[in-house]
Amino acid sequence: MTSEHLLDGHLHRFCGGRYQRASERVAVRLSGMHAEVERELYRCAACGDEQRTVEQREVAERDALARMREANALLTPRDIRRLRDDLGLGAAQLGELLYGVPRGIVEGWERGRYLQNRAADAMLRSLRDPEVLTRRAAKAGVVLPERGSPEQRVEARAVVGGDEG
Ligand SMILES: [Zn+2]
Repeated sequence: MTSEHLLDGHLHRFCGGRYQRASERVAVRLSGMHAEVERELYRCAACGDEQRTVEQREVAERDALARMREANALLTPRDIRRLRDDLGLGAAQLGELLYGVPRGIVEGWERGRYLQNRAADAMLRSLRDPEVLTRRAAKAGVVLPERGSPEQRVEARAVVGGDEG
C-alpha cells in the first residue's frame, strides 16, 4: 500500500474533516519547454488543507515529461537505449560523446526519469551519422567498437533477429 491509498478518506485530525481526491492544473517548465498537466492531490473537505503525496508528484512529473517529449518530437527513452545499443556504447561513453553528459543523466533519459533538452536530442540524433560519430569519438577520446559501421551492425542484428546485449 502506498501513502496515496492511506490518505483517501483519511481524517484530518486538526479539524475533523476528511481528505478527498481532487486535482489541480499545474504548469511544468524545463529547459525552455513547458507542459500543463492535471495533478492529483488530497484536499480536506472541511478546511481545504491540501496534501500531495510523493506518488502524485511523480505521476504528474512523468506525465509532463511525456507531453514535452511528444510536443517537441524528442527521442523516447526506448529510442535512446536502442541508439546506444546500436552504437555498442556504454551509458558513460555515450555521455562523453555528448560533451560530458554524466552517465546517471543518460541512464535517467533511458528510464524516462529525465528528459533531454532539444540540443541534446539533436546531438543524439547526429550520432547516427558515421562521420559525425567518428569525429566526435576522436575528440572525446571514446573508443568505438570495431565491428563495422553502426548501420552494418543494425542490419546484422536484424538478420539474427535478437538482442546480443
Ligand atoms: Zn481539515
